[in-house]
Amino acid sequence: MKQAEPSLEHSVKLLWERVLEEVSREVPRQTLLTWFKPLVPVDRSGSHLIISAPSQFFVEWIESHYRAALNNAVLRAAGPGLQVNLQVGDDQTISKPPALASPQSFKQTNHKISSTESNRFAADEPNLVPHLTFDNFVEGDSNRFARAAAFACAERPGKTPFNPLLIFGGAGLGKTHLLQAIGNHIINNSPNRVIYVTSEQFTSDFIKAIESRRRDAFAKLYRSADVLLLDDVQFLMAKEKTQEEFFHTFNAFHHSGKQLVFSSDRPPKDLTGFDERLVSRLQWGLVTEITRPDYETRVAIINSRARQEGIELPPEVAHFLAQNITDNVRTLQGALIHLLAQASLMGQNITIDLAKSVLKKFANISDTTINPEKIIEIVCRELKVAPVELKSRSRRQEVAEARHIAMFLCTEYSKLTLKAIGLYFGGRDHATVIHAREVTSQRAKQDKAFSEIIDRLRRLIELSAL
Ligand code: ADP
Ligand code: MG
Repeated sequence: MKQAEPSLEHSVKLLWERVLEEVSREVPRQTLLTWFKPLVPVDRSGSHLIISAPSQFFVEWIESHYRAALNNAVLRAAGPGLQVNLQVGDDQTISKPPALASPQSFKQTNHKISSTESNRFAADEPNLVPHLTFDNFVEGDSNRFARAAAFACAERPGKTPFNPLLIFGGAGLGKTHLLQAIGNHIINNSPNRVIYVTSEQFTSDFIKAIESRRRDAFAKLYRSADVLLLDDVQFLMAKEKTQEEFFHTFNAFHHSGKQLVFSSDRPPKDLTGFDERLVSRLQWGLVTEITRPDYETRVAIINSRARQEGIELPPEVAHFLAQNITDNVRTLQGALIHLLAQASLMGQNITIDLAKSVLKKFANISDTTINPEKIIEIVCRELKVAPVELKSRSRRQEVAEARHIAMFLCTEYSKLTLKAIGLYFGGRDHATVIHAREVTSQRAKQDKAFSEIIDRLRRLIELSAL
């Protein structure tokens, strides 16, 4: 079947979309929105992808802060050999005729991209982000123990009692940062080979190996490493075949005294849908938790990040941010970056007032502005369910699903107790709310389309509170 040749403009756009998708794995969402979404793909000539940025400041900022993340993303999206050139662009260049690449050469490149993509395992790629180091990790009571254990493993991989090391804790609290820091420390200080992959990447490598009948190559690649850093193991829940392969990989590593480090968003006992033997193995070494940073640590994290950006933050602004953003480090940094960006782009000083206006988008929005009724109204409108039905006993699938989602969002956005939330849903009890929260967050982790719906609802809810 012959398909119409896509226009160059269209192909460049598609390619850039894939790059952005990869970038979104590397940087916080706010960074993606602030720094990457405004970029426009302009042209492609041979091995250069030309991207236009709104200003010179943008170009410099991305070059100095996100070049490594961008390069990693391009490598994953397009395979080796493609380079991104950032330029300050007037938007007319976008409609410029594609004089530089002939359709023929473009077709070949496209072909090369897809074959490279299908052959390479994620574990073959350099997945370490250079700036995620121990030096850049601020220590506090919430993470001191995890950090110390991680550092010990990095200094003497496989030679401490912490094998495996399992770090668990909520989203955005620094688990990935610590795993990456271990990897960076080891590759910079020893000849040891390190593999860092997310559990999603491990799973897709395994599937790729089966599909292309390269299970030997897969096993060889993984076992050739001296250190395996596997992020977000909870993703392997209910994936029996992948767990089995992981089990073998685990054994091979452990038998040869090689270091294993894992992260998980929950403690091992809550890894439902996990093979018992695996859960037990995960706990053979050390299991340690990272919790939310306290106020002082939050201030230290903000100041450290601001210094990395070359900015001395007025103390009252650091305090203001730390007081108002308490949930996790990722949101905290997102708010800070947004504030710095806003100040630089607008040529404004970093003041409390500016911080307040930026924070509207990030702060825990108070109960007076977002109440469960508002959330129910938005969810019902978007999912086309009547609010009365939501509060009724109806078990119709769409209704039950919308009810779960609305309850889940209420636990995220209102400070009400679970019991009080239940009251808004026709007097249901707190166990029902817990169940709804669990079911929804599970599904959001496993089902991309579903998690996009949740994100859209979150945006609508946040907008409604501004
Ligand atoms: P997790 O993997 O637990 O979801 P990450 O490791 O991705 O969280 O952390 C989210 C963001 O916060 C990253 O940018 C990370 O560098 C930063 N971060 C987390 N904890 C700290 C810390 N203690 N010091 C400095 N930065 C931190
Ligand atoms: Mg992580």
